[in-house]
Amino acid sequence: MFWKRLREDSELAIITAFAGCAIVGIVPFAIYRFFTGNNLAGFVDMAIAGSICLAVGHAWRSGDRRRASLLLAVINTVGCLASATVLGPPGLYWMYPALLGNFLLLGRNAASMVTAFALLFLAIQGKAYDTPQQLAMFLVSALVASLIAFVFASRTESQRDELKLLATLDPLTGVRNRRAMEEELELAVVRLQREGQQFGLAMLDLDHFKRINDQLGHEAGDDVLVDFAKLLMLHTRKADRCFRFGGEEFVLLIPIPNAAALAEIDPSLRRRVAEELRSGGEAVTVSIGAAALRPGEAWTDWMARADAALYRAKHEGRNRTVIDDGGSSSPV
Ligand code: GH3
Ligand code: MG
Ligand code: MG
Repeated sequence: MFWKRLREDSELAIITAFAGCAIVGIVPFAIYRFFTGNNLAGFVDMAIAGSICLAVGHAWRSGDRRRASLLLAVINTVGCLASATVLGPPGLYWMYPALLGNFLLLGRNAASMVTAFALLFLAIQGKAYDTPQQLAMFLVSALVASLIAFVFASRTESQRDELKLLATLDPLTGVRNRRAMEEELELAVVRLQREGQQFGLAMLDLDHFKRINDQLGHEAGDDVLVDFAKLLMLHTRKADRCFRFGGEEFVLLIPIPNAAALAEIDPSLRRRVAEELRSGGEAVTVSIGAAALRPGEAWTDWMARADAALYRAKHEGRNRTVIDDGGSSSPV
């Protein structure tokens, strides 16, 4: 369980690794300081180690990694500034891992601000260095270390954003995938509850798609899927969300002013597909099942209603839309 969570949750892994290193580094020093009679420094070290344990415990218990990271960065920075103030110049050595740790925990922008604050504080308070040359050496070396950490954090952040985006896209058509769809449908349920924003969901399934594959080959089938996704993007509004649910099934999530508005949206889209989508010179059509989200409804039930409407559209002859309106569903 412990290792599984660490493997699957990179932020939690960073927090835990950082805290582990910090504890291993700090506790022996705290003990040494008590033995040598420097009780104040010993208490500062123990307070830092204790707070780090609390922050990590919070991340593991609540899953709130953001707040735990912030807390760790604050403890980290304040602790180092305190130890540089109490111990004088030798305390400054802790600033290097602290600055690097902040870039790991906070990301480049927040970490840059914390770094600027910490260095400014040390330059002004005057207890952490004996001569101006010592201060200059420290500031320059700390800035170089921070700059390297900044470059590294920037690269990591942009790679992470790219990966996140890739994980939500369907590689064939470039529209969002089923995983992204589930997140957005869950969000729609919350938005209806909180803001009263209504949503319609349309399930679109290409008609007789298997025939295209059988007669013209799988690649021709793929081309139709790509063209269909382009048509969807072209003929839907900016606020509409388009997803590939799987195979030749797509889903549209549409913000609507009221449930009745769902009927107005579709006919033009379906006609456009019939007019513009071609495979081997033949028209390709689509059947659509749509449903408006009901208050308190789970997204899975909402989707099941749209799917049942799609099933009816197929059953009634294809190339049509059926909108679920509660008890019955009406073709458009
Ligand atoms: P219906 O009108 O009832 O929807 O008929 P259909 O032929 O479209 O029926 P069905 O949904 O059963 O067929 C879907 C086919 O789509 C079956 C599968 O081989 C094909 N398919 C699924 N994913 C892909 C894909 O990525 N590329 C291609 N070319 N074909 C796919
Ligand atoms: Mg299908
Ligand atoms: Mg089909």
